[in-house]
Amino acid sequence: MPSSTATAVPTQYHIVPLDPHAHLYEVSVTVVDPDPEGQRFRLPTWIPGSYLIREFARHFVSVLAEAESGEITITKEAKDVWRAAPCFGPLTVVAHVYAYDLSVRTAYLDGTRGYFNGSAVFLCPVGREDAPCTVEIAPPDPAFGEWRVATTLPAVVAAPYGFGRYRAENYDELIDHPVETGTFATATFMAGGAQHDIAITGQHEADLPRLAQDLTRICQWHIDLFSGAPNSPAPIARYLFQVMAVGEGYGGLEHRASTSLLCSRDELPMPGVEKISDEYLRFLGLASHEYFHTWNIKRIKPEAFSPYDLTRENYTRQLWAFEGITSYYDDLALVRCGLIPAARYLELVGSTITTVLRTPGRLTQSVAESSFDAWIKYYRHDENSSNAVVSYYAKGSLVALAMDLTLRSLGGASLDDLMRALWTRHGHPGIGVPEDAIEKMASELAGQDLGDFFTRYVFGTEDLPLARLLAEFGVILHLRAATGPKDRGGKVANGEAPRNSLGARVASDFKVTHVLRGGPASRAGLSAGDTIVAIDDLKATPELLASLLDRPRCGKPLAVHAFRRDELRTFRIELDTAPLDTAYLLLDADPTPTAKSRRDEWLGTRG
Ligand SMILES: [Zn+2]
Repeated sequence: MPSSTATAVPTQYHIVPLDPHAHLYEVSVTVVDPDPEGQRFRLPTWIPGSYLIREFARHFVSVLAEAESGEITITKEAKDVWRAAPCFGPLTVVAHVYAYDLSVRTAYLDGTRGYFNGSAVFLCPVGREDAPCTVEIAPPDPAFGEWRVATTLPAVVAAPYGFGRYRAENYDELIDHPVETGTFATATFMAGGAQHDIAITGQHEADLPRLAQDLTRICQWHIDLFSGAPNSPAPIARYLFQVMAVGEGYGGLEHRASTSLLCSRDELPMPGVEKISDEYLRFLGLASHEYFHTWNIKRIKPEAFSPYDLTRENYTRQLWAFEGITSYYDDLALVRCGLIPAARYLELVGSTITTVLRTPGRLTQSVAESSFDAWIKYYRHDENSSNAVVSYYAKGSLVALAMDLTLRSLGGASLDDLMRALWTRHGHPGIGVPEDAIEKMASELAGQDLGDFFTRYVFGTEDLPLARLLAEFGVILHLRAATGPKDRGGKVANGEAPRNSLGARVASDFKVTHVLRGGPASRAGLSAGDTIVAIDDLKATPELLASLLDRPRCGKPLAVHAFRRDELRTFRIELDTAPLDTAYLLLDADPTPTAKSRRDEWLGTRG
């Protein structure tokens, strides 16, 4: 079959919420001129932005094929591949797909809403990946109410927010515009001359005008960062924030013209509340993070993702840059666009430093290795992850901070310049970023070889020299012992933190969740999964543990009685002095003029 014909005729999709109570979509795909040898169909095994093989095909409940002659055989060839018997077209394959995952990565359907990523529901006819696509999005039975559609798929025949026919240039585009259906609240704002919509599903009382106002500032700031000039035009014609508000939940996934966000309804702004609460700040940080991805990963991509191979793992050592730099700018944008003061931004940085310091895995795994092994480690956290894995988000954002401050202190350039250079060389023309490109570009901008920085902090496991770098910017990094597991930083009174450390994390039911390598619990043999029942012959209670950790031990070990499975054991634990693993940053009240000027430039607080 000549490929020009193959790519000219659109692949036609149709999706209908068949049985919302059973969480079943019916999804069909029609190929007008199927492969005469037997048309094959493939489903992605993962979704870009979330680096784990998720096997979406496991939710395909049934698959049937129909040709002109009637029903024909369709056989599974692999976990993610089906082949229809040779036939004359048009050939239609109809699948029933189970959709009941509330996350932003797959699909969901019940009597109140439907949501899907194309990668979880749309079969791709093999050999027709580049063909244009049309998709009919059908409403559920009217008994389920007046649902609407929120998506950035371009409409062919559909009113705004309406059911109807949409299109995509090819399969890659088809699966990069998730679709939300249901009854949702909407708001619209303009940034960079482009229409930005917000659609919030779920029960909430969000102050939508406030949200639109705050997101306008954030979005315009990101647009201007990449263009290098104020009030620049956006590189997209339209953008959509799809938000699902629930009681408890958190997550986001980036797409080329939209993002799907899952948040707690408490994280949305309340009407009449002027102050940005910690919860709302978290939501703004998440929205800012996903919007930054519009450039950094959706258009500036690692070479390894150009194009994506959706059948298997795609390895890159650069996720620290694509997720870490994005994590650095998500909060930095909030202070730079004037939504929060510098001191509040520094609290967020302190909390990230605390997270990394409390992860012994940072001394074992580099952020480059963490990027490479995301597929088997980062997305598969277990009881040993703290000891073996470092987050390419958290440490990656500190690498970005250190790189920004290093470039700035060397004079002339900043990470902003690096992002603009990446956009110009790789993003705008759509050329993948080679594995060594960021190091080379950073050295170019610095005017000197930064190989040593990358060897130590990106490919090596050394702690970043943040105290020294921040001091040059009029910011003082303090370290102290934690007052408890929920303590994320900030100044506390002397004596508020306990003196001793157990070196283990214990849940409220006294089940040990993590044992930190080399710490007191680990040395004595206490393990994750053990359930502590008594300490020093007294019943284990949170108050008892707190008071024992606070007391001078004078060399006397703790006798910890715990069940491992159904066997009672006793562990003699020699406590350590509590580690200084809680960071907080303060503005230097009396900085040198150079430090003050650098700080204002970095945080945008000049004037
Ligand atoms: Zn991200």
